[in-house]
Amino acid sequence: MNAKDPASRIQDLLQFGEFGDVNPSITDSSTFTFLKADTMEDTFHGEAPGCFLYSRHWNPSNKYLSDALAAMEGTPAAWVTGSGMAAITTTILHLCNAGDHIISSITTYGGTFAFLKNYLPKFNISVDFVNIEDLEAVEKAIRPNTRLIYTESMTNPMLQISDLPRLSGIARKHGIKLVVDNTFTPMIISPYALGADIVVYSMTKFINGKNDCVAGAICADEDTINAMIDVNNGTAMLLGPVLDPLRSSSILKNLHTLHIRLKQHSSNAMYMAEKLRELGLEVNYPGLYEHRGHKLMKEMMNPGFGFGGLMAIDLRSNDKANRLMEMMEDEGVGYLAVSLGYFKTLFSCSGHSTSSEVPEEVQQQIGLSPGLIRFSVGLDNDIERSFEKVRVCLQRLGYV
Ligand SMILES: *Cc1c(COP(=O)(O)O)cnc(C)c1O
Repeated sequence: MNAKDPASRIQDLLQFGEFGDVNPSITDSSTFTFLKADTMEDTFHGEAPGCFLYSRHWNPSNKYLSDALAAMEGTPAAWVTGSGMAAITTTILHLCNAGDHIISSITTYGGTFAFLKNYLPKFNISVDFVNIEDLEAVEKAIRPNTRLIYTESMTNPMLQISDLPRLSGIARKHGIKLVVDNTFTPMIISPYALGADIVVYSMTKFINGKNDCVAGAICADEDTINAMIDVNNGTAMLLGPVLDPLRSSSILKNLHTLHIRLKQHSSNAMYMAEKLRELGLEVNYPGLYEHRGHKLMKEMMNPGFGFGGLMAIDLRSNDKANRLMEMMEDEGVGYLAVSLGYFKTLFSCSGHSTSSEVPEEVQQQIGLSPGLIRFSVGLDNDIERSFEKVRVCLQRLGYV
């Protein structure tokens, strides 16, 4: 019987090494020998299943991690990359030719926004940025040369929820692809099952959860992945953004505890969000019933993992936000740092850090206030105590 939930699908995998090692062996090799010259030729043409040629193409350690990610995502295939940006840029460059057009959510990860806005014009690829909650605007933006709709399941940093089934309906109706970055909500949301064609990840965040490396993944159907690693014209094969197999091996081990970590991140974030709201602060957390995307997220999410570890509060003023973050760091709430999905709480002021690539007028347009602090709530065992520290800081600043 096939498991319905992403965590059980990973748990069900039988992956072990050649000596019965319970963790698959690390294949620390860039190249692979062949006993027959013919087999090498077949491998070059992608016609020798189970054979490995060269680690920029495939490496057994990368294959184990990719298989586990494909199981989690419910996609037939996956391929792992050296960073989340590598997964995103490889996917987009693979799908688009010069002269093509992309529709993207206006709120995305800052690096993605910068790539779409500043880098793609080099190839004469144009992008229309839309409010992804406005499905009419999405459909209206489609042109004859539109290749794909790009969004994040839960957008950064505004935590908007994308209506994946309806976006997929629009994409299919017009014969274009839906590409979804699911970095904020692995396991919680399964974009492929909801109609996305390609799901991309920064594994740097929740999936690895240790902040000891950057890594990414592309999850899709077999044809798409095979086309990306084609030796003659595959974007992944030719640009070479492959993940190191030593890292694949360590990320695979961390992936096996992702579901437990997510539950703790989610319940801690929910506690923080509710308590901060009780203090009268402006809190943005999709788990709160008044959040614009709350109902939609409930419809789309897999049960049992919660609403994720990301939340934001708006102090309106950048100065106040900076002071609060410094005080919280002093009190031991967590670290003033970019990134997310770490075991300690991380906080940063989005408008002046991870979204600083987004021009100020766009920040205003999307409601990204200079006082917006994004929290990636950690795995704190005593979240009541952590909240109390935040409350004391807010009190000293005169907010409560
Ligand atoms: C961090 C992040 C990325 C980029 O990933 P890297 O691993 O830093 O290259 C892309 N999308 C989202 C939503 C992210 O949070």
